[in-house]
Amino acid sequence: MATFTGTADDHRLAVALTFDFDAESLWLGAMGTDSPSALSRGTYAATEGIPRILRMLERYELPATFFVPGDTAERHPDVTRRIADGGYEIGHHGYLHEPPTTLTEAEERVMVERGLEALLKVTGRVPTGYRSPSWELSKSTYRLLSEYGIRYDASQLGADRPYWVRDAGKLTDIVEIPGAWELTDSAHFMFSYFPSYRVGLSGPSKVAEVWQGDFDGAYEESGDICYVLTMHPEIIGRLHRMRMLQGILDHILGHEGVWFATMDEIAMEFRSRQG
Ligand SMILES: [Zn+2]
Repeated sequence: MATFTGTADDHRLAVALTFDFDAESLWLGAMGTDSPSALSRGTYAATEGIPRILRMLERYELPATFFVPGDTAERHPDVTRRIADGGYEIGHHGYLHEPPTTLTEAEERVMVERGLEALLKVTGRVPTGYRSPSWELSKSTYRLLSEYGIRYDASQLGADRPYWVRDAGKLTDIVEIPGAWELTDSAHFMFSYFPSYRVGLSGPSKVAEVWQGDFDGAYEESGDICYVLTMHPEIIGRLHRMRMLQGILDHILGHEGVWFATMDEIAMEFRSRQG
């Protein structure tokens, strides 16, 4: 599944729409709370966020990548299967959204395995890509990902284009497709009293300015740049933010030579270009 504006030959810029379906696991694993009200914020991803996002993607006929923690797949198997059955890519996103920096190597191995098992059981597919919970990486992460056959990572912030991951100074066979906090919804919109995270609830017009400014700059530079939006169904899935996202998509679709692709497709294209 990939969509070009214009033809594949004149592609100037790759665009990836990515959604981290954290749901309850963010609160249980990263925030350390099982308060029913906190968990219900995660549940919103399954009840409203994902259905709304899928309707939008279908309407625009665009591909997307969903990074799904194992706990989310087990808790919401029907919603997760709907994503997979729609032809969208599903990537590994830990088991309980546990930042790898808080785990021993043995614990991290268990989480990588449990995440893979849950995704395989629910979707019938083995993910090729990984985005770490909370964009944290331990010293063991890449060794484990290599061992379990992960082909690309989306947890670093080191460039605006793909590159090979280096682990302890050595080149690996894992492609990095980096992100940027500026191009997340969470950094702009997330709000929480406990744990305290009060920068959020930005007006969508501010965020649209940031996201559109980065797209316009990337389009002007072109080449091997990738424009990767990192979003969360419980955040971007709110109605006023969906309208903002649609405005961004309309803006992007007004440009020739944009390649909308899944992260897996971008990683494969990088591999083939690099020989
Ligand atoms: Zn996440």
